[in-house]
Amino acid sequence: MSRADFRSDTVTRPTAAMRRAMAEAEVGDDVYGEDPTVNRLESLAAEKLGLEAAVFVPSGTMANQVAVMVHTRPGDELIASSLSHVVCYEAGGVARLSGVCWALSDRPALSPEEVRRLARSAGNVHFPVSRLVWQENALGNGEVVDLEEMEAIRAVAGELGLKLHLDGARLFNAAWALGVDARELAARVDSVSFCLSKGLAAPVGSILAGTADFVRQARHCRKVLGGGLRQAGVLAAAGLVALGEMVNRLPEDHAHARLLAGLLAEMPGVEIDPAAVKINLVFWRAPGLDPEALVAHMEARGLKLSPPVAGVWRMATHYETGRDDILAFAAHLREFLA
Ligand SMILES: *Cc1c(COP(=O)(O)O)cnc(C)c1O
Repeated sequence: MSRADFRSDTVTRPTAAMRRAMAEAEVGDDVYGEDPTVNRLESLAAEKLGLEAAVFVPSGTMANQVAVMVHTRPGDELIASSLSHVVCYEAGGVARLSGVCWALSDRPALSPEEVRRLARSAGNVHFPVSRLVWQENALGNGEVVDLEEMEAIRAVAGELGLKLHLDGARLFNAAWALGVDARELAARVDSVSFCLSKGLAAPVGSILAGTADFVRQARHCRKVLGGGLRQAGVLAAAGLVALGEMVNRLPEDHAHARLLAGLLAEMPGVEIDPAAVKINLVFWRAPGLDPEALVAHMEARGLKLSPPVAGVWRMATHYETGRDDILAFAAHLREFLA
């Protein structure tokens, strides 16, 4: 029986190379700046992004919360999509931790026009101060924002004096999908974060990067949030393998996602646009079928699926879902539909 977990790319377990690197990691007290493995990971991450400095944080959520804390003051306003992770899935952290309010666009990705529309005119005592534009790439819906659009947003933000953060939880997926170096994305914002713990398969951790001054302040905010870690080299060691080996194999996940989408498109009653699949996430609908029954059918055959949200199924491919698992899924779905 095939065993595979399509619920998310966060379910990836550390690779054998990661476990070896973790066991052998040279460590020190990172709050003293003395963990050589963390220091190596932070320099490598900064280099891969073409930025001055980077800091290792325990989660993508903490990377985002720290970024907001550094860029804003209480009462400031953040401009974001209403669908962004920082708005939907971080427990209201920006209000609670940074005292920030937000102006939201209903579209999955901000456009330059939306940024202009949502920014407050300066100098009016009634208005909160617009401070930070929040972008994601890749987007949570699996789409990717191209460089021209990012450049246009940067131009508007520059003109209006707004800071720009890129939540790049799946930054390297976006870079592969666009066929550009991740530096090209990082160059178009003031700060950027990415997850080591999604498709890159590290067990824990994210990177937050920007100028040396931004990262100095970020280290302070990370401490405020309780994210200053001690012998974190055991975790950073897995991050080094993630950057060294796992970034380069992400196109395989994208190819598997396209394979999956192509198979789904052939199924009776399944609605999907295979051309919309850009990264390792596949979204589809099947209005006629019973979601709980399908989840149970797959579970009994060793395949894990997340139930649909508002009728939309989301499946993620990653290094632990191979071609055979995808073919097995398609066969079991065909059998379920028959
Ligand atoms: C997963 C994700 C995060 C945060 O990740 P955690 O490490 O789970 O806190 C942030 N932003 C986006 C867009 C994500 O997909």
